[in-house]
Amino acid sequence: MNVAVIGKGGREHAIVKMLANSKSVNNIYAIPGNAGMREICEVMYRVNEDDFDAIAGICIEKQVDWVVIGDAGPLSLGLADFLIDEYGLTVFGPRKKEACMETSKSFTKNLLKKYNIPTADFKVFKNYEEAEQYVEAAVPPYVIKKDGLSEGKGVVIIQSREQGLKALQDLAVVSDDGVMEPLLIEEFLEGEEFSLMVMVNEEYTHTFEVIAQDHKSAFGKGSGPNTGGMGAYAPVTHISEEVRQEAIKNIIEPTAAAMVKEGLSYFGVLYLGAMLTDDGVKVLEYNARFGDPEAQVLLSMIDSDFACILEHVQRKEPVKIDWKDGYTVGVMLATEGYPYEYKRGIGIAFTEEIMDRSFISGLAQTENGDYISSGGRIMLVTGTGSTIEEALRSAYSGVDEIEFNKNEIFYRTDIGHRALLIK
Ligand code: ATP
Repeated sequence: MNVAVIGKGGREHAIVKMLANSKSVNNIYAIPGNAGMREICEVMYRVNEDDFDAIAGICIEKQVDWVVIGDAGPLSLGLADFLIDEYGLTVFGPRKKEACMETSKSFTKNLLKKYNIPTADFKVFKNYEEAEQYVEAAVPPYVIKKDGLSEGKGVVIIQSREQGLKALQDLAVVSDDGVMEPLLIEEFLEGEEFSLMVMVNEEYTHTFEVIAQDHKSAFGKGSGPNTGGMGAYAPVTHISEEVRQEAIKNIIEPTAAAMVKEGLSYFGVLYLGAMLTDDGVKVLEYNARFGDPEAQVLLSMIDSDFACILEHVQRKEPVKIDWKDGYTVGVMLATEGYPYEYKRGIGIAFTEEIMDRSFISGLAQTENGDYISSGGRIMLVTGTGSTIEEALRSAYSGVDEIEFNKNEIFYRTDIGHRALLIK
């Protein structure tokens, strides 16, 4: 079969790598793709993710059988709807209506509340003064969130009244006629955070057997602003199989059933950001696609044919995923300044061996083949091992082999710290 993968980040690099190893896959077209994918598929870098006509044109011309949409942007704009309705293509990735599970936090929280699925208590505000009054009286800690997509930057954990009022000012978008884009104020959940990926086709779900843990803050041990993700590792052995089963029974299956009841026909990956609290597992958030960088770590641990997995999900058949033994750790290199303003075009050099175990997020190649940064997050370097310590050593020794200026590129040195602490 021929497959088109839509997106240009590390997550799509991981999807392309998996498909390239699938026996039934002949050709892969990455739209727009990135510099890391050149060796393994055809990269259509001139086509933007929001150019639906051009994407459809490529899919028809190249006789694409499957389209895998990796990124939330095109899902939120209705790319799946367009390719299915106008061209009858098979698309792995939800339609715009179903992508609301990610693109509207108030939609999802109301769905969870209606069906008694465990999550933090919350209130939705559409009026600035009302939100302000609430914040004046609220007892920290609590969380203020934007309703829509904001690349991990729309969430602030509030520790004081002043911080709450400042965050409200920063996050609120109020139109000239006084209407505020919805903001959520949530109960702060204490506990251990983890990520579960679920393949969903309406009421059918297959939850990945391996749990991952992400590192969202820019700097060590939760300091600095939230980012798209600075590293990840798997498996998370301090989250037990019983807890995973609890999440499936109390959260994942009821969520799939609730979506069907509400008339949603979800087909794609549903990412569950979960918190293990003293009261059990609760939903922090859903994403309508693989998490990044968890996808890079988890997909590289799969020892089964990925295209075959997709086909089983499409037919709602039980799927058996074989997982490699041991641990995988991913360390993200990012440009100084990220997640705020940052420079592009910073030089970085590494060997083929490093490229083979890295996933590219923001890297371009100059005419003479040199790599330069083209985004805030540059690349995730992975390492594997039979213990978490070994995998960490392998990932960080990979990072040490890369040539870059430490004043221009940074990374977290504490990936996996929870696993080491709890062990
Ligand atoms: P991303 O874009 O990275 O998926 P997001 O912007 O959609 O993130 P959330 O996942 O809802 O936002 O929140 C980001 C992080 O903030 C979570 O991973 C978690 O660490 C923290 N967080 C969010 N909600 C809560 C909560 N109710 N209690 C405690 N921590 C929370």
